[in-house]
Amino acid sequence: MGQEGKGPVIRANIKVRGIVQGVGFRPFIHRQVRGYGLKGWVRNTSDGAEIEVEGPEGLIDRFAEELWTKKPLLALIEDVRIDKTDDLRGYDRFEIAGSRDLGRRNTLISPDVAVCEDCLRELRDPSDRRYRYPYINCTNCGPRFTIIKDVPYDRAKTTMAEFPMCGTCEGEYTNIENRRYHAEPTCCPDCGPGLIYCRADGRPANGDPVKLAAEDLKAHRIVAVKGLGGYHLACLFDDDETPARLRERKRRDEKPFAVMCRDLDAARKICEVDETEERLLLSGARPIVLLKKKDRGSLMNVSENGRVGVMLPYTPVHHLLFDEGLESLIMTSANLSDLPIIYKDDEALRELADIADGFLMGEREIHTRCDDSLVYGFDGKAYPVRRSRGYVPYPLRLQGADNMILACGAEQKASFCISREGSVFPSQHIGDLKNLQTFDNYSRQIAHFENMFSVRPQKLVCDLHPDYFSTSYAEERSKNEGIPLIKVQHHWAHMASCMADNGLEGDVIGVIWDGTGLGTDGTIWGGEFLAGGYEGFSRLGTIGGIKLPGGDRAVEQLWRTGISMLLDCGVDPSGLYDEEKISMVRTMIGSGLNCPASSGMGRLFDGAASVIGIRQDASYEGQGAVLLEAAAAECCEAYPFKVTKKDGLYIFDKKEMLRAICDESMRGVEKGLMAARFMNTMVRMAEEMCVLIREDTGLDRVCLSGGSFQNIYMLERLVKDLGQRGFQVFHHSRVPANDEGIAFGQLAIAAKGNKDDVPCGTA
Ligand code: ZN
Ligand code: ZN
Ligand code: FE
Repeated sequence: MGQEGKGPVIRANIKVRGIVQGVGFRPFIHRQVRGYGLKGWVRNTSDGAEIEVEGPEGLIDRFAEELWTKKPLLALIEDVRIDKTDDLRGYDRFEIAGSRDLGRRNTLISPDVAVCEDCLRELRDPSDRRYRYPYINCTNCGPRFTIIKDVPYDRAKTTMAEFPMCGTCEGEYTNIENRRYHAEPTCCPDCGPGLIYCRADGRPANGDPVKLAAEDLKAHRIVAVKGLGGYHLACLFDDDETPARLRERKRRDEKPFAVMCRDLDAARKICEVDETEERLLLSGARPIVLLKKKDRGSLMNVSENGRVGVMLPYTPVHHLLFDEGLESLIMTSANLSDLPIIYKDDEALRELADIADGFLMGEREIHTRCDDSLVYGFDGKAYPVRRSRGYVPYPLRLQGADNMILACGAEQKASFCISREGSVFPSQHIGDLKNLQTFDNYSRQIAHFENMFSVRPQKLVCDLHPDYFSTSYAEERSKNEGIPLIKVQHHWAHMASCMADNGLEGDVIGVIWDGTGLGTDGTIWGGEFLAGGYEGFSRLGTIGGIKLPGGDRAVEQLWRTGISMLLDCGVDPSGLYDEEKISMVRTMIGSGLNCPASSGMGRLFDGAASVIGIRQDASYEGQGAVLLEAAAAECCEAYPFKVTKKDGLYIFDKKEMLRAICDESMRGVEKGLMAARFMNTMVRMAEEMCVLIREDTGLDRVCLSGGSFQNIYMLERLVKDLGQRGFQVFHHSRVPANDEGIAFGQLAIAAKGNKDDVPCGTA
């Protein structure tokens, strides 16, 4: 330390708020204080940590400043408050004082973190006592969220409670110089859990579990592998037969599988990896990153579109497996069709008996199920599709979210958010609430979050849709517990979600495109142009309604929507479709029975995918749109279109576009060109709408949200083109654009707008 900045000797009390427990924060303070020669103490509090030091003011200031810049890897500091006084206590040393419970549970909990480099080195060092030990972890890495049963976070309240530490581990745990100081899940081969390898019939096999699993994998068998938040099903994909067998057994027809690669080099063999994607792949959260295939036509046995979801190993077990000479494996969540991911051992053995040929299981129990996160790299940041393992339960700061609010989210991609003191805690990926098991998990997770963060909601917020299970959940709690409930229109919530994601205030234009959401006029919306903010909104433009013959059946049979769109525009579909299908659709539309109109962008994509000839039936949600995006060729032309105005609402007139697509399709124009021209038309239409709305409202900030913005082709072009037209364009980077992001928007509206609990938005 130099002589500069010493100043008078003072006493400072420093309160640090944030994730500072179980992340090596006190040892870090200890080192820092020693470097500066300060005296005093540090202790954990329910708020975070409290430090009291005496020394020259200049040094104390520098010490406090460095809390932000030099903090340990996993610490997340939210706030540092310093109180200074010249009333000295005369401390003669620095010590770690006992924890102080302030009666409230304000301490934040860290997400699960991928095994760190230091632990990996020990894992591979034959002389280390944890050589090849599958549960190695330390203060900087390992499981957190998924093993915590209750707070405050210590070993006794995790699934490690049943493994008491041995003397050596205890010694490390209590030694402030050790990198396992207060690492709650720390253990070793003498005291911790072990691995087991079971055959398909559930009988444990003799031998090294990891080597047995690797042998089975190399023999092209399917192996269930226990991870942090649930089980995966793993297999090779160097032939077509093995992935096909997995699809057949898992009843997952065409939906892409995720892949785990040994390292970046292995990932680069099959996919392009740019700087942002590399950073995301290597981050402690270890999400699945949706990477562009090196060769668009390759790896069709893994993914039928142009991208593959790739992740790198994140548990010691993964590393041990890949060390057996494996390079890339399919690693798909172990669940049956759309049910929640399997995370209990007995359930895995029972439910996966017909799918897996072997089970690589571990004795440490998973308490909370948590799926892998899924992101794109976009604009230098993560663009989340699913925010789950590795991110949850980190809070998102939201100005104004001071009260305890529970936002119940949407339905098919359910999630919830709770807030307290300016922090919003989004839940992990929950799934489709129409499944009983999923709904059960949803309500249990809400209870778990309320307990972990000691939140008793004072306000509830849900979607306007009366049939969503999340709506009934909210209504029931509102009735039983007398908590006020507000209902928020779906697309308004999407817009607010994108605003809050970017920390925006005031009013914006929202380009909100998704599949389905209930509008304030009782019809189905989904291709909307809104204007407003947290206080309210107006619907100023729409892509207009499309009749869906057969309702939900049209979502599976895309040709229904294709024919319906063409007929609606007076275009003769007979050159493209069977007469039988055309007359069926014609009859249904004529009678008007079960032909709901929807202005969903997802439905327009369905119809376009059908007319272009990309896809006639969808085996999973959004398949038409995904394949249409993947098919796009290099082309910057668009189809002709008009924007008209009726009753103060701008409407996209699709006639000319559909006539042109139909004509090109009949002439056999290359599908990739039509796909590109169609999406380019959407981009130009959005630009024109935004320009019109800017003229009317004076607003020049645009938020892009809704599930259709998982289409990176459109997102990229819209961000660029609107920017060139003088708009400030905002997209998501912290929560998904799809319905998983709805809860965050609902919460923002409940917290920041709607002070007098207006039941819903105005159209
Ligand atoms: Zn570690
Ligand atoms: Zn031990
Ligand atoms: Fe939506």
